[in-house]
Parts: sequence; C-alpha cells; structure tokens
Amino acid sequence: MEKVRAKKHLGQHFLVDENIAQKIVNSLTNVEKPLIEIGPGMGVLTKYLIQKHPQFSVCEIDTESVEYLKEKYPELNIIEGDFLKLNLPELYDENIAIIGNFPYNISSQIMFAVYDNREIVDEVVGMFQKEVAKRLASPPGNKDYGILSVLLQAHYDIEYLFDVPPGVFSPPPKVNSGVIRLIRKENFSLDCDERLFKNVVKATFNQRRKTIRNSIKSLNVDVSKLPDKYLKERPEQLSVADFVEICNQIKH
Ligand code: SAH
Repeated sequence: MEKVRAKKHLGQHFLVDENIAQKIVNSLTNVEKPLIEIGPGMGVLTKYLIQKHPQFSVCEIDTESVEYLKEKYPELNIIEGDFLKLNLPELYDENIAIIGNFPYNISSQIMFAVYDNREIVDEVVGMFQKEVAKRLASPPGNKDYGILSVLLQAHYDIEYLFDVPPGVFSPPPKVNSGVIRLIRKENFSLDCDERLFKNVVKATFNQRRKTIRNSIKSLNVDVSKLPDKYLKERPEQLSVADFVEICNQIKH
C-alpha cells in the first residue's frame, strides 16, 4: 500500500515510534464510552484504538489518508471531513472521549470546540506543540496561563503527561511536542453565568495591560461592586475561583 504524502498545510507529521503511540493510547482512562480520534493520518494510533474501543470513529480531512485507512481497516468508522465543522451533539447523545496527535495549526480551535462541547466531552488525550500543551496545563501566576487555560481548567483537570521529541515523526516538525490529558470535573458547571465567565476571561486577557476593572468595563457591566483586590490585578494572576467571583460581583 502506498504511503500518504505528508501535506504541510494539513499539519501532517506522522508519528513513527510505536512505543510512543502505545503510550498515548494507554493514557486514555475511559475505554467504554464512544471515542473519536481527530486526524488519524496513516493510523498509527488507530490500530491500537480499534482493538480496545467498541464504539470508535475517526475524523480525517485528507482524502488520501481516508483512502489509505479504508483499505487498511475496512471495518473502521470514518467521518470524512473537517473536525471543526462537526456537530458533536447531533452525532452523540452521551459522553464521549477525544484523542489525537492533533494538527498543530488548528489545535487551539480544536480545544475551543472541546470547551463549547463540554456537556458531552468528558475526556481528551492529545498531542500538541509543547508550548501549547504546557500553556493549557499551566497554573495561574505563570506567564503561559491564557484564555484557553482558564476556560478549560474551569471544567477539566488537566495533566501534562510527557514530552515527545521531533525525531519520532516523519517529517520531523520544527518544534517539540507534548501530550496532555483532560478529565472533566465531577461537578463541572460553574457557580456563575458561564457565558459571562467566557466573556470576562476573553475581555481581560485580550487587554492584558489594563487592570481587570478597566478591561471588563468594555462589556457594559456595572463594576461598582467589584472587590478592591481586583482593581489592580492582572488576568494571569487570577484563578478560576477569582473569575467566578468577579462574574458574581458585576451586573449587566
Ligand atoms: N495521527 C497521525 C497524524 C497526525 S498529523 C499520526 O500521529 O501519525 C495530523 C492529522 O490531522 C493529519 O492526518 C491531517 O490530515 C489531519 N487533519 C488536519 N486538519 C484536520 C481537520 N480540520 N479535521 C480532521 N483532520 C484533520
């Protein structure tokens, strides 16, 4: 069978180290629930996943990879197309897990989609560019802590699992990679208006140099009840609990 030619615009770097592939697959805690793999490529993770997971699908945008997978795994359930265009609640009415060596050019968009679908996505194991993986798992006070860190950490426990060097891919990427796992919290709804929470997190991080109070004024909210400690703070110092408190202290 002809190998798939790696296409740069699709972020294709194929993992060729079987031990690392197994380590990623074994990082999933949940084998009973439906599982979707994003970007299987030539199936280095797929071949292990297909043996273990009874309700398993892959989503792949590259027609050449799809043809390869169809021939190699005739029984595989393949969703052909762009993962970012999928309507997950239409496809699944129960909790699902997501796994993948993600295409790095759209990995943030994939994680925003996870956040938007937090009602049904209860676990993610993913490989990212190392900096992105570190940022997602980073605690407050760290310079890497950003919008997606807060939004995802509000609903998921995130663990940085291990580094992956460029040499185990073909072709090797220019960056180091890292694998993280997200497990949805038992009680994953917030004690505040979640839409407001998202808007506050975005408004404050998008205007990092301003104080919290000044940046959230742009949301047309009443900040007069905001505790004094938030007059000076910067967003990267605030925990999820602080953002929840802010949301409960401002009024539309
Ligand atoms: N999992 C494979 C391939 C990783 S490369 C491995 O580890 O070897 C990233 C894969 O994501 C490629 O197969 C690429 O075609 C696919 N991809 C890129 N953009 C995508 C999208 N929007 N939706 C689904 N798959 C995508």
